[in-house]
Amino acid sequence: MTADPVGQQTVSKSELAEDSQSSETPLGTPDVRNPVIESNDLDVYYGDTQALHGITMEIPERQVTALIGPSGCGKSTFLRSINRMNDLIDVARVDGDLFFHGKNVYDDDVDPVALRRRIGMVFQKPNPFPKSIFDNVAYGLRVQGKDDGDVEAKVRRALERAALLDEVEDKLDESGLDLSGGQQQRLCIARAIAPDPEVILMDEPASALDPVATSKIEDLVEELAEEYTVVIVTHNMQQAARISDKTAVFLTGGHLVEFDDTNKIFENPESDRVEDYITGKFG
Ligand code: ADP
Repeated sequence: MTADPVGQQTVSKSELAEDSQSSETPLGTPDVRNPVIESNDLDVYYGDTQALHGITMEIPERQVTALIGPSGCGKSTFLRSINRMNDLIDVARVDGDLFFHGKNVYDDDVDPVALRRRIGMVFQKPNPFPKSIFDNVAYGLRVQGKDDGDVEAKVRRALERAALLDEVEDKLDESGLDLSGGQQQRLCIARAIAPDPEVILMDEPASALDPVATSKIEDLVEELAEEYTVVIVTHNMQQAARISDKTAVFLTGGHLVEFDDTNKIFENPESDRVEDYITGKFG
């Protein structure tokens, strides 16, 4: 059982947890607020350029963790390193450790596709497929091999969790591309959560949306954190302050300068540089 160590179907929870804190803390135990993701001295390079320097942090289960900081400071790079999306960039190289439930996702025996089944992603620009609303969400199940049961019930449930069902219930066979931008993004969130991942990574999911649509996404993110671990990149500090439990502040050159409870970061940060950034003195 080594071919697919992070694949839910091919590995038991206790196997994955064996090099974690304790075998009595099985993977995904819902009421444990342990870190789901831990990065330890993580460096990421694009060719000769180092984009992240020694990132060490723990992301807690079923909370919203926001990654903030000025453009180019490595937020998206860090997000993509969590589910190995950087593997898709030829020049990207990762050093250091990134643990998911205690298993290093960069170990040779980890299948990135299986990893992404459990750590889903939503991108900045809504990217529905040119298919019906129903098929967009069902695709999320099919591609993950989870269309074995009642697809219709699962599609409806995902749309409901993504706060979209009421708006599309009567037009599930219409194209996803005919929805508004905000609805399209919620459709993409439904597609990401349909296969029931544990973690949802969001890369500025509201930055292309108007204020009303943004507010709906923000409400949704907070709701999703009741069931999922959410990690969200945002350049909008007010948004991070509104919706996140933990905030990581990345500053220029790809350094994580401070990581703490969101209230602490915004009200009384340790670092003067973070305070300057939060108060708008730079960045
Ligand atoms: P942020 O999300 O904070 O805006 P990024 O993670 O996108 O920052 O970028 C961090 C650094 O890595 C930047 O200097 C950026 O130019 C560089 N970078 C990002 N993606 C690539 C890529 N695909 N190829 C080369 N360099 C990249």
